[in-house]
Amino acid sequence: MSYIDTKCIQAGYTPKNGEPRVIPIIQSTTFKYDKSEDMAKLFDLEASGYFYSRLQNPTCDYVAAKICALEGGTAAMLTSSGQAASFFSVFNIASCGDHVVASSAIYGGTFNLFNVTMRRMGIDFTFVNPDCTEEELRAAFKPNTKACFAETISNPSLTVLDFELFAKVAHENGVPLIIDNTFATPINCRPFEHGADIVIHSTTKYMDGHATSVGGVIVDSGKFDWDAYADKFPGLTTPDESYHGLTYTKSFGKEGAYITKATAQLMRDLGSSPAPQNAFLLNLGLESLHVRVPKHCANATAVAEYLEKHDEVAWVHYPSLPNNKYYDRVQKYMPNGTCGVISFGLKGGRERAEKFMMNLKLACVVTHVADARTCILHPASATHRQLTDEELVACGVSPDLMRLSVGIEDARDIIADIENAIEASK
Ligand SMILES: *Cc1c(COP(=O)(O)O)cnc(C)c1O
Repeated sequence: MSYIDTKCIQAGYTPKNGEPRVIPIIQSTTFKYDKSEDMAKLFDLEASGYFYSRLQNPTCDYVAAKICALEGGTAAMLTSSGQAASFFSVFNIASCGDHVVASSAIYGGTFNLFNVTMRRMGIDFTFVNPDCTEEELRAAFKPNTKACFAETISNPSLTVLDFELFAKVAHENGVPLIIDNTFATPINCRPFEHGADIVIHSTTKYMDGHATSVGGVIVDSGKFDWDAYADKFPGLTTPDESYHGLTYTKSFGKEGAYITKATAQLMRDLGSSPAPQNAFLLNLGLESLHVRVPKHCANATAVAEYLEKHDEVAWVHYPSLPNNKYYDRVQKYMPNGTCGVISFGLKGGRERAEKFMMNLKLACVVTHVADARTCILHPASATHRQLTDEELVACGVSPDLMRLSVGIEDARDIIADIENAIEASK
């Protein structure tokens, strides 16, 4: 299997003789064994297999394996939400007393997770502007830094990451680069090809694509050499007493250590695995990801070009437009397209935005993005309302910013809806 379109359909699950053609929903909490020794080996991580769906379930694993293939990784794990994926991806290698460098242009929920909840756990964060200089980025790292976290295309400010710079400085400091690739999807960008070590997704967005199931995934590239920085990552490189002194890097190599630890330790203790039914629905979404994503991008380009020419539009930000400040980076890292999300502001600011949104008919106002249906959100009054004005600016979200998630309807209907609402909000 060489091409990503084929992987969207076929990867992750190969039925044996007489088995279901489609990924089966194994809706079972538990699994039966003839001998307790068999089970003991599973509990000791000496054999691989299933015993309790809080840790692992076959349906979820088939779907994780597909996403792993799409990203070009060596191991992957589904989580019950994108938030759980972000949390586990960092918490798997950082604990109380550690420090993480994160881009300031990240999803509002991730920002709160890091800046409030994980700080409460004793993990410190330094947030850097993703467009900072090499010196500024380097200055953010400390001896106790354990990871660097950023988004490929940030939600909602749509900054495009300079992967080369972030990977270089993270690696100089002996830590992995963790990338939230939700908006670009592996169809448009595969961060492992640009130096990232771990990728996470909110699968709730384009991967599911139909707004049916909240979910997340963590994928490991298998490239980061934990043993080379053994002192920084004792959780992976020294014995885990809760598994009879097993050392993850010794037993599973750099290809498997990180995800095995996340599954065996974090899922065991914190339990954020998705329902098999949700994994099944996610797989249906994945089977058309390579068809939907280009259509989202084509529609978004048409809408962005329309908005750009409109007299009532104050500004448009869509990284695929040739005059966008990220256009060169886009050509380098995602030449086939970016995402279906556009941000823009109307003349008349915040009040006009609210009036405009009330007059849309096809595009719904929802707290969602990356859905087959066109939808819109005003972050300053919704997802980002916990943030102060300074934090809003730091995240690249101005008070008049509307986030338009362009769906896969006919672009002419989407543009007509916007045209009507602009007129009605005059
Ligand atoms: C939505 C989102 C998340 C959080 O994911 P949930 O599935 O809602 O928990 C994380 N990162 C990005 C970029 C998102 O858009």
